[in-house]
Amino acid sequence: MDISIVVPLYNEAESLPELEAWIARVMSEHGFSYEIVFVNDGSTDNSWEVIKELRAKNGAVKGISFRRNYGKSPALNTGFGAAQGDVVITMDADLQDSPDEIPELYRMIKEEGYDLVSGYKQKRYDPLSKTIPTKLFNATARKVTGIKNLHDFNCGLKAYRHKVIEHIEVYGDMHRYIPYLAKLAGFSRIGEKVVHHQARKYGKTKFGLDRFVNGYLDLMTLWFTGKFGGKPMHFFGLLGSLMFILGFLAVIAVGAIKLYNMHAGNHYILVTDSPYFYLALTLMLLGSQFFLAGFVGELVARNSPRRNDYEIDETLS
Ligand code: UDP
Ligand code: MG
Repeated sequence: MDISIVVPLYNEAESLPELEAWIARVMSEHGFSYEIVFVNDGSTDNSWEVIKELRAKNGAVKGISFRRNYGKSPALNTGFGAAQGDVVITMDADLQDSPDEIPELYRMIKEEGYDLVSGYKQKRYDPLSKTIPTKLFNATARKVTGIKNLHDFNCGLKAYRHKVIEHIEVYGDMHRYIPYLAKLAGFSRIGEKVVHHQARKYGKTKFGLDRFVNGYLDLMTLWFTGKFGGKPMHFFGLLGSLMFILGFLAVIAVGAIKLYNMHAGNHYILVTDSPYFYLALTLMLLGSQFFLAGFVGELVARNSPRRNDYEIDETLS
């Protein structure tokens, strides 16, 4: 099969028939063999009934329905598990992404050798309250992930080589960082294509402004686990040791200054009367806590069943 189109959806009943018809038209115009995997993320409207009707008309329509709402990432991950096409496309169900982009995305994966191609909504039809924070979000994501050529990490429209989706696991709210997940899994050919974007026609957005707070926290998590997940001591140990040594030297200095002044007959204050003593103490305490966190982290990492999972590209035997 050429193409799997994975569509996560939550209460998008009005959009689905138009989306299915549009995809089917583009696919038949280009002669692709395809499937549409609708993942119903616990919709409370009649989305699932609509999907069943579409399925009765078009055998390429497949569906998975969650009993409750889990979020876009779990929906995508489940859709990836079912997708069989050589190239896997993800797109939102709300008609904001255009199926007309699919043939070119397919070509970029197949002919230009990309592992992942992300859409870039250069001209967006979203409210300003979303477009401005999004610019900031993407700038930060580019810095932290080191994927310098992406302008729109969270674009719902993306294309993947099938191998990529086998090797990434999208959980929590990590759908915002799939290109980074792919990079961490060793897929480095990540490209971008400018895509058309439309205003939402039916229904309303499922994400509020908290997306930016959560997005930032998730980025920190991925950065940390990607860099130090397997060796937490390298992070906490270094930080802890530096703080402890600094605190220790400061305590010695405070004591030495007192002894010197005492000896020289100058005015001197008790060590416990110096503010620096307490600062130094705090540093030493925090430093040893960090160090301990490193040890505990190592114990956790050591017992992880995935501690020796590596991304093996090819083997000869
Ligand atoms: N979505 C989902 N589960 C959720 C929230 C959203 O499957 O819990 C789907 C939603 O139905 C849509 C896509 O994710 O197909 C993108 O959501 P939305 O259009 O609300 O996001 P926005 O375009 O505002 O970023
Ligand atoms: Mg949308």
